[in-house]
Amino acid sequence: MTEKISVDVAVLGGGPGGYTAAFRAADLGLSVCLIEQNERLGGVCLNVGCIPSKTLLHGAIIIEEAQEIAEFGISFGAPAIDLDRFRSKKDAVIKQLTSGLDGLCKARKITRLTGRGVFSDKHSLAVDKGPEQTQVQFGSCIIATGSRPFVLPGSPDDNRIWDSTDALELSVVPKRLLIIGGGIIGLEMAQVYHALGSQITIVEMLSQLIPPADKDLVQPLFLKLKKRYQILTETKVTAIKAAKKGIQVSYEGAQGKETNEYDAVLVAVGRRANSEGLGLEKAGIVPNGRGFIEVNDRQQTSEPHIYAIGDVVGDPMLAHKATHQGKVAAEVIAGHKAAFTPMTIPSVAYTSPEIAWMGLTEKEAKERKIDFEKGKFSWGASGRALSSGATNGSTKALFDKKTGRIIGAGICGANAGELIHEAILALEMGADAEDISKTIHAHPTLAETFAFAAEMVDGSITDAMPQKKK
Ligand code: FAD
Ligand code: NAD
Repeated sequence: MTEKISVDVAVLGGGPGGYTAAFRAADLGLSVCLIEQNERLGGVCLNVGCIPSKTLLHGAIIIEEAQEIAEFGISFGAPAIDLDRFRSKKDAVIKQLTSGLDGLCKARKITRLTGRGVFSDKHSLAVDKGPEQTQVQFGSCIIATGSRPFVLPGSPDDNRIWDSTDALELSVVPKRLLIIGGGIIGLEMAQVYHALGSQITIVEMLSQLIPPADKDLVQPLFLKLKKRYQILTETKVTAIKAAKKGIQVSYEGAQGKETNEYDAVLVAVGRRANSEGLGLEKAGIVPNGRGFIEVNDRQQTSEPHIYAIGDVVGDPMLAHKATHQGKVAAEVIAGHKAAFTPMTIPSVAYTSPEIAWMGLTEKEAKERKIDFEKGKFSWGASGRALSSGATNGSTKALFDKKTGRIIGAGICGANAGELIHEAILALEMGADAEDISKTIHAHPTLAETFAFAAEMVDGSITDAMPQKKK
C-alpha cells in the first residue's frame, strides 16, 4: 500500500543533525516530515556514540579517581562491578534522552516516518517499512544520514572483532583488548575497558595519539597511559586472523614485526559517510571521491533545494557541528539570512586527563606562517589543580601578533572540555590577551589557568616567574 504526503521540508535521518533541523524548521512555521530508519531518534550520538560512551566513561573515571585518591591518604577497596547494572544505566540514559526527543517531535506536529528513505526524483522520497510505502513530496529536503564505522579491509567476520557500537554494548570485558587506532574513540574506549580490568594495547599508524591535537597537549595523557597500556605508534596492522583461542594480529612498525593474540579487537580507524543507497543519482547529486556530499555555507548541495548536514558532509564528524548545520539549513529554507561560518568547531577527547582544543592548533598556526605569541601555563602551578590532585595538565593560548587577537587555545587536564568554552567565546568575540587577563576569574579555579596563559602574553602574570620585559 502506498500513501502520499506532501511537506515543505523532508528531513532524511533522525540523528542530532536531522532532528535539530526538523525541530527548527517546524518552529519556523514549515510543515516537516522526519524520516528515520530506526525506531529511535537520536542517531549515532544518542544511541551508539556520544551519550553511551560518556555514561561508561563516567563510571570508568570514578573507578580511576577512587584509586588515585590514595595519594591523599584515602583508600577504597577494589570496586565491585555489576556489569549488567552498568549496562542498564547506560541504556536507561539513552532511553530517557531518545524518548524525550519523541515528545519534542510530537509537540511540534512533525510527521514522523519510520523506514528507510530513498530519493525517487528531485522532489520526492520513497520510504519503505515492510510492505508499506510512503511517497513524500517535498519542497526542500535536508540529508542528514550520518556515518558508520570504517571496516579494515581483510578483517575476518568474527564477533570478537568489534567496532565502536560493539564496544559500547559492554557484553564482556576481554582480558586482552587490542585497539586499532589511537584516535578519540580508541582512547575513550581504552579508558572504559582498562578501568573494568582489560589489558590494553593500542596500535596507531601515525607518530602520536590523537594526531590532530598539538603533541605537547597530548603528552601528559600519553605519559600517563603508557604506564598502563602498551602503546605502539607508527605501527600498522598487517594481518588479522580469527583463531579458536583468540584473534591473532600481526603488525609492523618502529618496534619491528610482531604477532600477538587478543580476546577482542576494537577497530577505531575513522568513519565513512552514509551516502550510498540513497538514490542520490535520482536527485542529481554526486558525492565526492571520499563519499561526502559537498555543500556551500548555506548547506545547499549542487541542487539548491536539497541540503546536507552533519557527518555526511565531511569532517569534523561531531554532533555539535551537525546540530549547528541543521539549524542553518532550516533557517535558510525558511528564508532567513543564515550561513554556517563559525570561527571554530571545538574538539574534546573525554579521556582522563581530558584534551580540548579550538581555533588554530600551534602546528596549524606555524604551517600557515602566522606570527603568533603563545602563553602556556602548567597546571603544576595552579592552586586549584594542586588541591584537587589535577596537576597533570596545561593551558595554552595563541595570539596573533599583528591583531593581538586570540587565534587558538588548547587545554589538557580535568574538565578541559568544559573549560575550553571560555576560549571559544573569546575567539568569537575577537578578544585579545588583555581582554582575557583583565576579566576577573574566581580563585581558586582551573579556569584561572586560561587567564594566566593570557597574562603570560600581555606580561602581567604574577603567578609565575617574571616575564621578560617587552
Ligand atoms: P548520525 O548521528 O549518524 O545520524 C544519522 C541518522 O540517519 C541515523 O539515525 C541513521 O539511522 C539515519 N539514516 C541513515 N540513512 C537513512 C535512510 N536512508 N533513511 C532513514 N534514515 C537513515 N561527537 C561529539 O560531538 N561528541 C562526542 O562525544 C562524540 N562521541 C562519539 C562516540 C562514538 C563512539 C561515536 C561513534 C561517535 C561520537 N561522536 C561524538 C560523533 C557523533 O556521534 C556524530 O558526529 C553525530 O552523531 C553525527 O550526527 P548526524 O546527525 O550527522 O548523523
Ligand atoms: P579518528 O579519525 O579520530 O581516529 C582514528 C585513528 O586511527 C587516527 O589516529 C588514525 O591515524 C588511526 N588509524 C587509521 N588507520 C589506521 C590503521 N590502519 N592502523 C592503525 N591506526 C590507524 O577516528 P575515530 O576515533 O574512529 O572516531 C571517528 C569519528 O568520531 C571522529 O571523527 C571523531 O571526531 C568522532 N568522535 C568524537 C568523539 C568526541 O568528540 N569526544 C568521540 C568519539 C568519536
